Amino acid sequence: MTKTTTKTTARAKAVPRGLELIGHPAEGRPTLGPTIPVDLFRALRLIGVMEGLEDTIGKESASLVYSSGKYLGYGLGKAIMEQTGRDLTRYAEALTAKLKELGVGLLSILELKLDEGIVRFQVDECVTCAGMPVVGRAVCHFEAGFIGGLMEVFLGGGRKCHVKETKCNGMGDGTCEFEVRIKQG
Ligand SMILES: [Zn+2]
Repeated sequence: MTKTTTKTTARAKAVPRGLELIGHPAEGRPTLGPTIPVDLFRALRLIGVMEGLEDTIGKESASLVYSSGKYLGYGLGKAIMEQTGRDLTRYAEALTAKLKELGVGLLSILELKLDEGIVRFQVDECVTCAGMPVVGRAVCHFEAGFIGGLMEVFLGGGRKCHVKETKCNGMGDGTCEFEVRIKQG
């Protein structure tokens, strides 16, 4: 009885989810403001999330981080689609502007063959890896998943993508490149 009541109350309050969880940092941080240094973001992303998860759960961590990125891609993709509709040019332009505004990176489309199920993106000045030391591997699993989520929202109809990072500053490539494979059927 008690348990049911608690659950109902929590649901009635409509606990914020997805992008709503970000809230209003500028209001909550009148002195410190809504932005943080890229160094701090990387400390969280590369040390906390990447290395921390690897040490905890091993190789599975990459796919876990990828899935997390995908989840965020769904959230942002839906918010953008509400403004642009399913118009590829408008969607890509709005997305590029948003990623620049947020300082995530400079997005450009290298190849767009939706009929063949292949899209390739380049991200310059990536917030996660631009200027990082060469570690001999791609590190942007979160961003790969994020792009996958954004693509799946655009494609709609339950169509699925897989995204692989083929170039990364972590490998000394000087940029990030992501290859999207749209699953057929
Ligand atoms: Zn990268």
